[in-house]
Amino acid sequence: DVTATKGNEFEDYFLKRELLMGIYEKGFERPSPIQEESIPIALTGSDILARAKNGTGKTAAFCIPALEKIDQDTNVIQVVILVPTRELALQTSQVCKELGKHLKIQVMVTTGGTSLKDDIMRLYQPVHLLVGTPGRILDLAKKGVCVLKDCSMLIMDEADKLLSPEFQPSIDQLIRFVPANRQILMFSATFPVTVKDFKDRYLQKPYIINLMDELTLKGITQYYAFVEERQKVHCLNTLFSKLQINQSIIFCNSVNRVELLAKKITELGYSCFYIHAKMLQDHRNRVFHDFRNGACRNLVCTDLFTRGIDIQAVNVVINFDFPKNSETYLHRDDLGT
Ligand code: ADP
Ligand code: MG
Repeated sequence: DVTATKGNEFEDYFLKRELLMGIYEKGFERPSPIQEESIPIALTGSDILARAKNGTGKTAAFCIPALEKIDQDTNVIQVVILVPTRELALQTSQVCKELGKHLKIQVMVTTGGTSLKDDIMRLYQPVHLLVGTPGRILDLAKKGVCVLKDCSMLIMDEADKLLSPEFQPSIDQLIRFVPANRQILMFSATFPVTVKDFKDRYLQKPYIINLMDELTLKGITQYYAFVEERQKVHCLNTLFSKLQINQSIIFCNSVNRVELLAKKITELGYSCFYIHAKMLQDHRNRVFHDFRNGACRNLVCTDLFTRGIDIQAVNVVINFDFPKNSETYLHRDDLGT
């Protein structure tokens, strides 16, 4: 898993020379796929929500950008890495120390179950990067000994675990100690619904990386047409007359546009249903059920139900509006298998 890459090199990221040395001395020759996806994006300052299997190199995927971004001449905590266990905190800090071997970055580990007094003493000395469990870091922040006002990057490893009821309250409080314009990177192998809530609340336009989902568009022929907004319906009409459509799903990006387009399609003489999030659930279910049973050839909708849906009869998927990100595109078009 750590070897099948796009062929990028660590040199491609213009990292500090000392950091590059640390990477090579650790024995990493090339970035792994998750590192190829995450490092350049993290370096741009974007929030990230990344999902990849265990053993794929997620640690370095966030440690490298963290180490790159830290200004070692400013003695404040600039990066916090949150992890759920003491063992993981130690392991992660070890990776940071190894990768940052030639940098002058001070890494500190703090977790529950150890002496609070020692941590307080340690925080009187310079710390650039803090790795620890949420409860302890929150304690230190509340006491005012751990100052997070200059923390510009907050990383959550095993993020799904950190957002479970056990940790979530601490995370919610802790996040108030870091500046509003911080960058948040979240990594995990699984992302349940709790992560979505968090994402909506705290992340700013996160870049979503998902290497878990084996979803690809293998076997699907993809076409695109450059058309102005006012020509879109005309273009659709042409497609309808030329394509062999068994059933089609047509995606729009808003409730309004779904309704308008469905009306247009009906006016053009084609049978058409529509579904969107503002419809009552009962009604939605009924339309969906009827469409699946072949009651109608075309369905116009928003992205509300793209995941995990499989309708055998659908052989054409039309992105009437451009999907908002590539993940959405994948999930939309996966319907057309
Ligand atoms: P994850 O957090 O995704 O489970 P880890 O970050 O613990 O994975 O990395 C798994 C193993 O892969 C570690 O031993 C790590 O040193 C190694 N590794 C990570 N990145 C690379 C790389 N680019 N080249 C070679 N080995 C790597
Ligand atoms: Mg890991």
